[in-house]
Amino acid sequence: MKPKTIHIQDVTLRDGNQALKRPWTIDEKIEVFDLLVELNVDGIEVGFPSSNETEFHTCQVLSKRAPKGKPIAALSRANQNEIAVTWEAIQKADCPRMHIVYPVSDFSIKHVLKISEKEVLQKIRNSISFARSIVGPGIEIQFSGEHFGDAIENFAFTKEAFLTAIEAGANIINLPNTVERYRPMVFVNMVKEIKDVVKDKAIISIHTHNDLGMATATSVESVYVGAEQIEVALNGLGERAGNTNLYETAIALHQNGENLNINFQRIYPTAKRISELTGIPIGEKTPIIGEDIFSHRSGIHQDGVTKTLHQSKGAYRTFSPEFVGRMDKETISFTNQSGHKAIEFLLHQRGIQVSKEGIHHLFSLAKSISSRENNREITEAELVALSQSLLTYQ
Ligand SMILES: [Zn+2]
Repeated sequence: MKPKTIHIQDVTLRDGNQALKRPWTIDEKIEVFDLLVELNVDGIEVGFPSSNETEFHTCQVLSKRAPKGKPIAALSRANQNEIAVTWEAIQKADCPRMHIVYPVSDFSIKHVLKISEKEVLQKIRNSISFARSIVGPGIEIQFSGEHFGDAIENFAFTKEAFLTAIEAGANIINLPNTVERYRPMVFVNMVKEIKDVVKDKAIISIHTHNDLGMATATSVESVYVGAEQIEVALNGLGERAGNTNLYETAIALHQNGENLNINFQRIYPTAKRISELTGIPIGEKTPIIGEDIFSHRSGIHQDGVTKTLHQSKGAYRTFSPEFVGRMDKETISFTNQSGHKAIEFLLHQRGIQVSKEGIHHLFSLAKSISSRENNREITEAELVALSQSLLTYQ
């Protein structure tokens, strides 16, 4: 199933911020908001206004700052007081969106809420109807069934809960994998079943967490069974192991031929700034933004890389560094795993010509130094120095 539209909804300022060791100040939140606008996400969830006064004020400030037509959401629990406060916080946005959450899984209903399923339906109906009565007919209301991904045991009830929300006035049905427990396909099949029941009565949205490291896969595949909105976070921030990573999701969809509004060149600068603003370093091997992801060290890979370096499709490259706004390039480095090609390539780049025998000699020399010194990497500068001593010697 080809997706009709894909709306990238960012929740960094709400789900991301609430899980930080030091939540952002209002100035920091404004900066993150502006980064999101520059990145051109389709919608922004700005916070949880009823949690405290600062949060309320911040949501008001960000709502007024929002560009025309950009949906600005805020989260509320399913009670009238909170809904009223939430609406007050975001109503100045050009395009405000009310987001109400309530649990739907059997486990949560029995062990956390400790009420009957009938009461759950009542709570959903009453809260959404109330929200609709205060926001008016033209405003979007999103309903999240918390723990949707854990609602396998009471799935028939869960479908009823979402239909109740739609009848009461919700236009967007958000399906969270609040805690990632099962395989992506288990979740994706549940999304498909909900889409079959909801049809075009509401937009289906996905909100996944990364407890097992599969949030991106789950979100991306959900798009192909009818989800039209994906909730994501910058640098994969969020509760526990985080929310679905914006960059991975956007690049994966782009690589599969989908059109997104994201300004891809803003990805890397945004990621670096978010790392500074959170104090959370970016891992060297982190997809899309990790420092080491364009390095090639093994002989076979280096051969493929050098032969396809200037082609749009690289033998060992899925997207180019510049596409995501990086200043670095694919790099060839030398370790005891590397081949002759690495040396030839590195010297050639510096304009140093060495004969085939010379390359062979340098290769043996560099490999023996590496092996002698705990298999360390031999830097480009060292290879150049070695080649010069060799040339002098010759
Ligand atoms: Zn969440």
